[in-house]
Amino acid sequence: MTANASRVLVLNSGSSSVKYQLLDMADGSRLAVGLVERIGEATSRLAHTPLSGDGVTREQEGPIADHEAALKAVAAELQADGLGLDSPQLAAIGHRVVHGGLKFSAPTVIDDAVLQEIERLVPVAPLHNPANITGIRTARALRPDLPQVAVFDTAFHTTMPEHAARYAIDVATADAHRIRRYGFHGTSHAYVSRRAAALLGKDPSEVNVIVLHLGNGASASAVAGGRCVDTSMGLTPLEGLVMGTRSGDIDPAVVFHLKRVAGMDTDAIDELLNKKSGLVGLCGDNDMREIRRRIDEGDERAALAFDIYIHRLKKYIGAYTAVLGRVDAVAFTAGVGENAAPVRAAAIAGLEEMGMAVDADLNAVRADEPRLISPEYARVAVAVIPTDEELEIAQQTYALVSA
Ligand code: AMP
Repeated sequence: MTANASRVLVLNSGSSSVKYQLLDMADGSRLAVGLVERIGEATSRLAHTPLSGDGVTREQEGPIADHEAALKAVAAELQADGLGLDSPQLAAIGHRVVHGGLKFSAPTVIDDAVLQEIERLVPVAPLHNPANITGIRTARALRPDLPQVAVFDTAFHTTMPEHAARYAIDVATADAHRIRRYGFHGTSHAYVSRRAAALLGKDPSEVNVIVLHLGNGASASAVAGGRCVDTSMGLTPLEGLVMGTRSGDIDPAVVFHLKRVAGMDTDAIDELLNKKSGLVGLCGDNDMREIRRRIDEGDERAALAFDIYIHRLKKYIGAYTAVLGRVDAVAFTAGVGENAAPVRAAAIAGLEEMGMAVDADLNAVRADEPRLISPEYARVAVAVIPTDEELEIAQQTYALVSA
C-alpha cells in the first residue's frame, strides 16, 4: 500500500447488479457512488455519480454482458473522474460477502484459499455467494496487486452463544450439513448498534441494544455490550421477521404440507416463501409507502398485512428484551425503519410496561442523522439510526489493510 493511499472501493455484487462506492478514509467522504443493474440483459444500465466532481449522475443504457464488463465500465467511469482503479491512492477493494459460515468472524484479506472457502459455502447461500465470488474474481483480475478484503454479513453474529445459534434438531445431521443459525445484515447491525451507543454517549461495551433492520429484507438482533447474542435470520435470510417478499418464521411442517397436499416441488416452495410471501404475499405490495397509502384509503388487506408485520416485530422486541434482561436502546434502521414513522409507532405501542415509548412529534421528524424518538421519561431510548453498510465495509477494510 502506498503511504498516502486512503481510498477504498466498496463492491456489493448481486446476481445481476453491482453497487459500488469509492470512499476516502482520510475523512470518510464519498468520492463516487453508482450502480450497474440488469447485467446480462439487453437493457443493462449504469448510473454513476461523481460526488467529488459536479455530482451530476451519468447514465449509460445498453447491454453489459457480465460482471467483468460491468466492472470495466465502472472502472472507466471512475477513470473519467480522475479516480481510476490504477490510482496509487487506492488502498484496497472491500467486497460485501453474504455468507462467511463459522470460519469468518472478521474481515479477511482474500487469497486463493479464502476464495475457495467462500465457494465451499455456496450450498448454504446459493442465491448470494456465487455473485459475490464473481465480483471478487473480476476485481482481482483487474487489480491483482491490490489487497481485496471480504467483509461478511454473518461475521457480527458469530458471537452468538450455541444455545441461540443451534436449532433443536439431531446434532449429527445438523453438523454434517452445517445447519445452524448464522444471521445476516451483520454489517448493518454492527454499525447501528455502535451508533446507538454513541447517541447515548456511551461505549458499546456499556449498553444493550435491540437493532431492528427493516428494509425489503428485515432482521432483528439482540446486542449485549457490543456483541451479538441473538438474531432473527437463521441458516438463510428467510427466518424471522415478516419481510417484503419473505415469510419469516413459519411452522416447518408447512413445507411438508405444500409438498404432500398441494403437490408443489421444492423449487416452487422455495420461490413461494422467498419471493411471493411476506407483505407481497399478504397484500400484493411490498413497499411500505404503498401499503400505508392503501390503508389510508381503507384497504383491509393492506391493513391486515401491516398488522401481521407489526405483530411479528413486537414478538421479537419482547423476546429480545427477555434475552438481554436490560435494554438500553431500541434502534430502527434501513428503508422502512428509517422512513416509516407509523411502523415505529405501532411496533412500540403498548410496550410502556417494558419502559418503551415513542413521542409522536419526535417520531414525525425526518432527518438523515441518528436521533431519539422516545420521550424523556422513557427508561429505554428508542432511536432512528440511518444505516451505512458501505461506510462500515470501507472502515473494516481500511482498518485491516492499514494495520
Ligand atoms: P432497503 O431494503 O433498506 O433499501 O428498504 C427498502 C424498503 O424501504 C422499500 O421496499 C420500502 O418498503 C421502504 N421505504 C423506503 N422509503 C420509505 C418511506 N419513505 N416510507 C415508508 N417506507 C419506505
